[in-house]
Amino acid sequence: MNKILIAEDESAIANLIRTALDGPDYRCGVAADGLAACDLLEAEPFDLVLLDIMLPGADGYEVLDYCRALEVPVIFLTAKGTVEDRVKGLRLGAEDYITKPFELMELLARVETVLRRCGKTGRVLSLPPDIQIDTAGRTVRRGGVPVALTAKEYELLLLFVQNKNVALYRDRIYEKVWGESYLGDSRTVDLHIQRMRKKLGLEGRLVAVYKVGYRLEV
Ligand code: CA
Repeated sequence: MNKILIAEDESAIANLIRTALDGPDYRCGVAADGLAACDLLEAEPFDLVLLDIMLPGADGYEVLDYCRALEVPVIFLTAKGTVEDRVKGLRLGAEDYITKPFELMELLARVETVLRRCGKTGRVLSLPPDIQIDTAGRTVRRGGVPVALTAKEYELLLLFVQNKNVALYRDRIYEKVWGESYLGDSRTVDLHIQRMRKKLGLEGRLVAVYKVGYRLEV
């Protein structure tokens, strides 16, 4: 079950989307202006925001900033369909962009894809050949055998699996996993990564990148 916030001031469209999504897989909240959307995001956790750009209160670009701070993925949903608008939305960090009018089937497919890509579905993520991560149960198995990871080790693993083959900077890793600003002490990050890597037998694949941080090679 994923929670989706629909930030849309045209109630007909908001209702249409809500009706299409509500069910066993999704539960929706609706906000008719940007400020109400931010209030809802602050009040309860959402897995995804379908965000109209032209919103009263605070516009979609402003709400996007807020979503990014909370690390909630965003799909822009808007009548602004020029290439410039699309590029601006994606540059600012939206995961996807849907232009109105749209087909509900397309919307559903994109919602599913973004949730999966962002590790928000209850599905099992796998890291071949032998590691499975059940993001709903927060459990990790290696060759079918459960591996006990600390909360930080689990978050680190998820971060690398969601960023395969990307060199991640230590400061970004620290800020993502510890939720605080990085003050330059690399030992905390290094220690946790080394322990996680050893538990999962990733020594040859989760490699140090000189002067940067680490990269999971797949
Ligand atoms: Ca609007």
